[in-house]
Amino acid sequence: MRLLPNGAQERKLRRLADAAAKLWNELNYERRQQYFGARKQGLSERASLAHVDLKGTRKRMVPNYTEILGASAWAVERKNAEAWSSFRGLLKAKSKGKLPPWIHPAPPGYNKDRKTGRRKPWLPVHHEMYTVDPEAKVIHIPRYNLRLRFAGDVRWHGKQERMEIWYDEARRAWYASIAVKVGAETTRNGTKPRHIVQGGRRSIEVARPVGDKVAGIDLGVNIIASVVVGDGAWIIYKGARLKEDYFHFEGRIARLESEAARAKSVGDEKRHDRLRAEVRRLKRKWAARRIHLYRNLASHLIRGLWGRGVSTVYVGYPYEIARDNGNKYSVNIWAYRELIGAIEAEAREYGISVYEVYERGTSSHCAYHGVEVKRSPRGVVTCPVGDHRLHSDLNGALNILRRGSGVLVRGNLRPLSFIVDHNGVAPANSIAPTKGGNAQNPGVNLGPQGPG
Ligand SMILES: [Zn+2]
Repeated sequence: MRLLPNGAQERKLRRLADAAAKLWNELNYERRQQYFGARKQGLSERASLAHVDLKGTRKRMVPNYTEILGASAWAVERKNAEAWSSFRGLLKAKSKGKLPPWIHPAPPGYNKDRKTGRRKPWLPVHHEMYTVDPEAKVIHIPRYNLRLRFAGDVRWHGKQERMEIWYDEARRAWYASIAVKVGAETTRNGTKPRHIVQGGRRSIEVARPVGDKVAGIDLGVNIIASVVVGDGAWIIYKGARLKEDYFHFEGRIARLESEAARAKSVGDEKRHDRLRAEVRRLKRKWAARRIHLYRNLASHLIRGLWGRGVSTVYVGYPYEIARDNGNKYSVNIWAYRELIGAIEAEAREYGISVYEVYERGTSSHCAYHGVEVKRSPRGVVTCPVGDHRLHSDLNGALNILRRGSGVLVRGNLRPLSFIVDHNGVAPANSIAPTKGGNAQNPGVNLGPQGPG
């Protein structure tokens, strides 16, 4: 949530968050010294880790900060120890050959801004130090005598864990995130309702699948998602709004970047830095809008699939976009991971499983005959077997569904078409050109047997 501190609160937050960041760096410095000291003596990465004295550094350094930070000083140490432990886990996975070769685990880094070299304000708050009032929208931290107002809704209900507060330089705003053990109503030593966050949702899974149907999803640029359900439904989501946003933001960013370059060339560092900061802010804004749009799509899609009795979803990896159309536009507009993440998060709430299908050729081969198809720029593929035609987005989704689940849908498929917007998802007119044909009647020049 976004915090809305007043002037005095903001100064206090800065002081606390700088102390926490400083403690992180001091602890981490000692621990890195111990680690790299052992490395210099020729020890292996894993053997060097045994020389990092977490306990000793904790005992020696944390008490210097408890006067200013209270229990949060221990939360800083805890978080740093977690980072070292995750480094250990990665090294272990690497030694067992479980990590991809391009991942090189490294010890935890320092808290500092890459560009300015300054510490970034960051404050972890121990779970017993604060309470949240979702009605009044106030976070109360008695130890710091802070009552911080916040914007936004508290989504989850459950036992609160560590809260982290940080300052976002690009948005010039303070944020807090609270980890919630969803569904847990009591703490270890019985009920302690003041450390329960009273959010809206008590369970991550809000529903169970009502059927066992399957669906295949083909992700793309103009049609963000083309979905075929095992029962023969075909649903498409158009991405016109995403495209408009892309051109709007790209244009503004390009103008600012060239202005920044001009400022640099005449030695106006101050103006250059200001413009670069504005570029970063716009990029963040564009990403936020895109993610919001993806969430709208995912929520509409998954609720719809759940209503149709789908329990398993297969999503194709978009090799074709990565390869064929790898121009600036499609690469930038395309945030595959963000979209998959949104779909997976939504599916989790409905108990629907999501699998990714990493097979090539899902859009270049006929779903019915497995042979290579010719693609016209108008989004229609022509299969040489029987010379039938299919909409390419339908062909892709059919292939993904078949390769994922073995289910091949036949039937007179007509798309249900939607347009994804920032404030929701609305029905749109069909995109399927009637000439393009469909699964049962794959268009003109159908061979003697047809595809079936
Ligand atoms: Zn075919």
